[in-house]
Amino acid sequence: MDLDRAAGMNKITFFSAQPYDKTFFNKHNCEFGFDLEFFETQLNKHTVNLIQSSNIICVFVNDIVDEVVIKQLAEKGVRIIALRCAGFNNVNLEVAKRYGIHVCRVPAYSPEAVAEHAMAMILTLNRKTHKAYNRVREQNFSLNGLLGFDLNGKTIGIIGTGNIGKAFSKIGKGFGCKILAYDITINPEMEKEGVVFTDLDTVFKESDIISLHCPLNEKTKHIINKGSLAQMKNSVMIINTSRGGLIETASVIEALKEGKVGYLGIDVYEQEEKLFFRDLSEDIIKDDAIQRLMSFPNVLVTAHQAFFTNEALTQIALVTYNNIKELLIKKEIQNKLALLV
Ligand code: NAD
Repeated sequence: MDLDRAAGMNKITFFSAQPYDKTFFNKHNCEFGFDLEFFETQLNKHTVNLIQSSNIICVFVNDIVDEVVIKQLAEKGVRIIALRCAGFNNVNLEVAKRYGIHVCRVPAYSPEAVAEHAMAMILTLNRKTHKAYNRVREQNFSLNGLLGFDLNGKTIGIIGTGNIGKAFSKIGKGFGCKILAYDITINPEMEKEGVVFTDLDTVFKESDIISLHCPLNEKTKHIINKGSLAQMKNSVMIINTSRGGLIETASVIEALKEGKVGYLGIDVYEQEEKLFFRDLSEDIIKDDAIQRLMSFPNVLVTAHQAFFTNEALTQIALVTYNNIKELLIKKEIQNKLALLV
């Protein structure tokens, strides 16, 4: 496919664009010179028609890029789908390939940002700093109900030891934790640093804290389910900064009610596309499961903000622009997901 800067090939149409996306992508465009059009709305079959004279789209985690949408994109002449995120579970790569559309992503943008947020969730749930903050503002200096535990000496189980899992293991080790890990590929470098790779059942059985850092795919969907929860220690802490679909929500709610799960920190939620990245403070939330989760005192929900640092947003903008630029000058790039036939 000839990907030169023909008409439409210099314009990028953004979906799910928030004010901070505009700030960072505008700021870093000076060295690339693309025409940019931003839409706040999600990409789905109803919004494809917003694309005008543009063969490149830039999408995020909750945009819908399924078979129906890709067919419409192809009809509109879209040649590049640039994901400004690492996960790509929302894109049907096979169909994109069939239609000859390039898909690229940002495989690593400050993995530390997500890893540090995972640790922030652990510390908040454990030491209850969110409650202490509110308490002292009301002149309540009592410590009752704020009891935590030492992280030092505890076992953290990491599922998925890629960029983020690896960064998180270093943080955990810094706190004096034993790190157990499960991944489909063992990382010898991490083993040398003292991370113990084991099977999934052992991670479930022996961990005090389980942190999810694997992608969402057919094998990992609902990896946290009734069966895996039953294997875990009583009062286990589960942290999910990866993808909502890794957790079977109904089972985790039951486990929270029974005390099997003692703490739950989620930055992602299976039905998040209807909720996250918008202010719904004046709305009636119809999703009963998220309402139930938010009602537990030992559940912390953040709205997919683990990536949200200055460094990560800078990297996202620069890597996305470079991906597009390299596709336009026909170079093979590492970040390309669907190769053309
Ligand atoms: P990565 O590709 O570097 O690492 C993923 C790891 O998971 C790899 O080591 C891979 O071998 C492993 N894996 C694949 N299938 C597995 C399985 N069945 N069981 C166990 N491990 C398996 O990705 P990353 O950059 O570390 O990101 C991890 C995930 O974090 C992404 O898929 C994305 O969903 C999520 N993420 C979330 C945010 C956020 O803001 N919350 C930001 C970036 C990424």
